[in-house]
Amino acid sequence: MREYFKKLYTSKATDFYKEVEVNLKNKQKMFIVTSNPETFTYGEKLANFNQLLLDEKTTLLPDGIGIVKAARMLGFDVKERITGIDLATKLLEICNENKYKLCLLGAKEEVLQSLIKVINCKYPNINLGTCLNGYTDNKDAFFNKISKEDIDVCLVALGIPAQEELIYKHLDQFKKGIFVGVGGSFDVLSGTKKRAPKIVQKLNIEWLYRIIKEPKRIKRFYNNNVKFIFKVKKNKNL
Ligand code: UDP
Repeated sequence: MREYFKKLYTSKATDFYKEVEVNLKNKQKMFIVTSNPETFTYGEKLANFNQLLLDEKTTLLPDGIGIVKAARMLGFDVKERITGIDLATKLLEICNENKYKLCLLGAKEEVLQSLIKVINCKYPNINLGTCLNGYTDNKDAFFNKISKEDIDVCLVALGIPAQEELIYKHLDQFKKGIFVGVGGSFDVLSGTKKRAPKIVQKLNIEWLYRIIKEPKRIKRFYNNNVKFIFKVKKNKNL
């Protein structure tokens, strides 16, 4: 587990966004995993997930407050959370400013269509490539198709671990491009679901807001976050 923490990005979000912009300009490839305690737990359980987290091509961002707190307990100087939704929003802005090509995979068809409308309206300079909802059987075909589209950014919103596993499976087909698993971000960006108010985000209790909105998340939260923090607390030599 410590290996994952060692790889965590520790600087500020603004620094990371600058790095992404530079990599886009230089046509570098990036695979970004926005990490929550669940992410690291999957890494410990699944060999393939462990491999993708530790791959040198993979960047691990501290998305959840659970990861930030645990990292600090272990002595890593993580400055702040960098969430999937904030990164996705930033990438839309960067794509709009530079007329980059963006592809989308994930979420329900109606959510995806709403997001496409939002993009066309709010980010009109984005060059939108192939977009596919997340409930189609042949998701591999999506990657085979976009590998011929000279894409700049690919956002995949299927939830963990499917989104990361799928990106990793196809990563070698691409010479450039920023690939990110963004969880439930399409639901928020499309306007289908509301993100927690700013004050809730600032207080780092967005997880509580999501549980109140969707009580079925509580079991997932307990299993991944509460147990995780206790594990780190008990065993600082992880
Ligand atoms: N999803 C999908 N296909 C599936 C299962 C899930 O496209 O087979 C989408 C789902 O519609 C949602 C996202 O994946 O938009 C996962 O959202 P969730 O809030 O669970 O992710 P989190 O942000 O908690 O990781």
